[in-house]
Amino acid sequence: AQRVPLSGLGPEEMVATEPALSAAVKNGLFAGGVWGKADESGDARVFTQRLVDTFAHARFVCHHNMPVTQIIRKDSKVRGVMSAERCFEADAVIVAAGVKSRDLLAPLGVKLPIYGVKGYSITVPLDKGAPAPEISLTDLKNRLVVSRLGARLRVAGFAEIGARPDIALARVAAMRARVGELFPDLPLPDNVSPWVGFRPMTPDGAPLIGPVPNVAGLYVNSGHGPLGWTFSHGAAQIVADLASGITPALDIEGLSVTRAMARMFSGRGAA
Ligand SMILES: Cc1cc2nc3c(=O)[nH]c(=O)nc-3n(C[C@H](O)[C@H](O)[C@H](O)COP(=O)(O)OP(=O)(O)OC[C@H]3O[C@@H](n4cnc5c(N)ncnc54)[C@H](O)[C@@H]3O)c2cc1C
Repeated sequence: AQRVPLSGLGPEEMVATEPALSAAVKNGLFAGGVWGKADESGDARVFTQRLVDTFAHARFVCHHNMPVTQIIRKDSKVRGVMSAERCFEADAVIVAAGVKSRDLLAPLGVKLPIYGVKGYSITVPLDKGAPAPEISLTDLKNRLVVSRLGARLRVAGFAEIGARPDIALARVAAMRARVGELFPDLPLPDNVSPWVGFRPMTPDGAPLIGPVPNVAGLYVNSGHGPLGWTFSHGAAQIVADLASGITPALDIEGLSVTRAMARMFSGRGAA
C-alpha cells in the first residue's frame, strides 16, 4: 500500500491552491482545508468508452442491451450465462453488476449483502474562463464532492437508503444553493441536469472481490459503495488475476464473499 501525501492548508494557502475558493474563504465558509496533492479526478463515462474502443478487436466483443438473466452452474462449476436472446458458454464468469449482483447470485443460494444507497449529482456547464475550481474538492460539512470534468462542473452528494429512483427536488435545490455559496461568481443555469444513482454498499463498507464459494470459476467484483470508480482499476486487476490463476498482489481476505456472508448470518451485518 502507498501512503497518500496530505497537507493542511490555512485560508490563504487554500486560495493560493484553488483560486475559485477565494469568495468562500473571504465569506468565512472555511477556516482551512486538507489538500491531497496526488488526488485526481476523471470522467468515468469517457474512460469506459475509450476502454471499449481500445479493446475493439475480434477477441473482445461487447454485447450491449443484453441483460444476463441467469448464471449457469453444473456440477459445482460455472458453465456460462443466459440472456433472453442466447446462451454464452464460459469457464469463468465475473459478476460485476453493481446492486443487481445480489439478484444474479441469489438463485445459486448466494445471498450477497449489497444494498443500494441513492446519491444525487448536478452538472453545471462552464463557459470559457468561468470561475470554477480546477482541483477536485470535498465539502465535508455538507458531504458534497465537486469535480471539474472539462467544460462541466459535477457536484455529487447525499446518501438515501431505499430503491426508488425518483429525484427529490429539495435535494437538487440544496446542492444548487451550496454551489452558489461556494462559488458566488459562477453563473448557475436553471437546469442543472439532476441525476440519481445507487452506490452498491456492503454493511462493513469493504467491497466484495473474489471467488464465489462452491461454484468453481465464478467470481464477484461488486459492492464498491461510494468509491467504485476509484477502486475500479485495482479491483479489476485482482479479479483478472484470480480468474487467470495468478495470486493477486493484495491480500484479499478482508474483501472475500465468505467474510461478508459470515457477518451477515452471524448478525453482525445487516440482514
Ligand atoms: C452520486 C454518486 C456519486 C459518486 N461519485 C463517485 C466518485 O466520485 N468516485 C467514485 O469512485 N465512485 C463514486 N460513486 C460510486 C460509483 O458510482 C459506484 O461505486 C460504481 O458505479 C460501482 O460500479 P459497478 O460497476 O460495481 O456498478 P454500476 O456502476 O452500478 O454498474 C453495474 C452495471 O451492471 C449492469 N447490469 C446490472 N444487471 C445486469 C444484468 N443482469 N446483466 C448485465 N448487466 C447488468 C448495469 O446496467 C450497470 O451497467 C458515486 C455514486 C453516486 C451515486
